[in-house]
Amino acid sequence: MKPKLLISACLLGVPCRYDGKSKPSEAALALGERYELVPFCPECYGGLPTPRPPAEIRGDGVFTESGRDVTAEYRRGAESALALCQALGIKDACLKSRSPSCGNREVYDGTFSGTRVSGEGITVRLLHKSGIRVFSEEEIE
Ligand code: SF4
Repeated sequence: MKPKLLISACLLGVPCRYDGKSKPSEAALALGERYELVPFCPECYGGLPTPRPPAEIRGDGVFTESGRDVTAEYRRGAESALALCQALGIKDACLKSRSPSCGNREVYDGTFSGTRVSGEGITVRLLHKSGIRVFSEEEIE
């Protein structure tokens, strides 16, 4: 039996990104040969619509460019991801790089200027705290 892998739904072609588009990755799709893929989008499960205004992390919070605080929705999405991992015994996740939910090494700095900083998305923070390993679609090789 293949191990289960939580995977960002947008990497499999699901149009759940803030701009209503997907970000399909051939390498991510090919993971289906080794894992049973469990697609998930924390921002959708957190209660945000698609499309939605882009948001960036500032400190412990997440805000849209107009200043709306969407931290609660991002946290709810993270908690849903963790609940799914715990229910299904998932120990690994492949999540989309640089997303304020899914990014595992870098995120944008909160100024909406395209500036990247070291850091983790809100879902990745919670998964890491719970011992779930996260890699991005750029690290599949
Ligand atoms: S929250 Fe994650 S899964 Fe959802 S669109 Fe953003 S990067 Fe993709």
